[in-house]
Amino acid sequence: MKLNSTQLSQVDAQIKRLIQTDSYYGKIYKEAGIEGVSSQEEFEKLPFSSKEDLRNAYPLGIQAVPDEEVVRIHSSSGTTGKPVIIPYTAKDVDDWATMFARCYETAGITNKDRIQITPGYGLWTAGIGFQAGCEKLGAMAVPMGPGNTDKQIQMMIDLKTTVLTATSSYALLLAEEINRRGIRDQIHLKKGVIGSERWSEKMRDYISRELGIELYDIYGLTEIYGPGIGISCEKNDGMHYWDDYIYIEIIDPKTLQPVPDGEEGEIVITTLVKEGAPLLRFRTHDISRIIPGECPCGRKHPRLDIIKGRSDDMFKVHGVNMFPSQVEEILGMVDGVSSEYNINIAHDESINRDIILVTAEAEGRVDFEKTAQTIKGLFKSRMSVTPKVTVVPVGTLPRSEKKTKRVIDHREE
Ligand code: ZN
Repeated sequence: MKLNSTQLSQVDAQIKRLIQTDSYYGKIYKEAGIEGVSSQEEFEKLPFSSKEDLRNAYPLGIQAVPDEEVVRIHSSSGTTGKPVIIPYTAKDVDDWATMFARCYETAGITNKDRIQITPGYGLWTAGIGFQAGCEKLGAMAVPMGPGNTDKQIQMMIDLKTTVLTATSSYALLLAEEINRRGIRDQIHLKKGVIGSERWSEKMRDYISRELGIELYDIYGLTEIYGPGIGISCEKNDGMHYWDDYIYIEIIDPKTLQPVPDGEEGEIVITTLVKEGAPLLRFRTHDISRIIPGECPCGRKHPRLDIIKGRSDDMFKVHGVNMFPSQVEEILGMVDGVSSEYNINIAHDESINRDIILVTAEAEGRVDFEKTAQTIKGLFKSRMSVTPKVTVVPVGTLPRSEKKTKRVIDHREE
């Protein structure tokens, strides 16, 4: 999807403003001799921005407005090294709430709803984003934050909460608890708005069925406002995103070239009107695709497919993108198979094909031969590749304290 003329002039204006400042990206563009963009080609030559940049700019190097215009900061959780700090102006905060309110509306939520907010409040963008969007919409916020399941359920019952906002894992926990207590008839929930981490169909069905609610996937990341830049609609076929605030391109994470609509790759986001910390061509490392064509719901906003995984984990065999999470899902379906596995991929010159070898562990009570055939069949039907499968006894594969490298790609050596 190309930039339209409005988006192009918004990007151009941001660059012109950035190079007037002493900010991190202002300096980068100045040094690179970038003065603006007037075409798609020029835009696609702009350098990418990354989380690494934001760490280098810690704490406030990225700030692109005077101090008196900044009303708030947020920070991403940063599991390793320095966190990332994003400054917001009053307009940024308001724009974010407007986008978020639009998300709620897309999910059919109105100012008559009561929205129980279970994501965390504080430095990160979760809870406060759900809250600001709720207030903008005019609905009633029940600002719980995470945890304290007894209190959550009590408020849910007493206040007749109609909307649950949560991570998929917390929604699952609540669904299980409500099921266990047999209090489903006291719950008034109609809809759930769930953070767009990758979650299985099985989990989605369980939550939806146990709570008797429709589920919507919401997308966003701290670097680009926070959650609320896109959400799935009632057709549940991808997430509409707000192209008057952000421009999305999908790139091949290896070649870094944009791919055509419909093709899978890494989501790269450009903010169009952000003031405090504009980001151009920010690499999210999330994998998805733009869904071509109009949504059957009739909304004009373009669509992103549900997030499939992280580019850092992705591997490609016979032109098919695969993620460890998909492998885990397959192995989880087979009786007696443990969660330990590894995958070796190599290129066989003699037949000019990539060979994929899956090694999985199984309990001694099952037939290893049959188990291997089952795994092979699942790979074929669900991922369109036919691996060779070896099943070994539980405890055979190496364990380590650190995150084990499960996919060993010999093709790049
Ligand atoms: Zn739609």
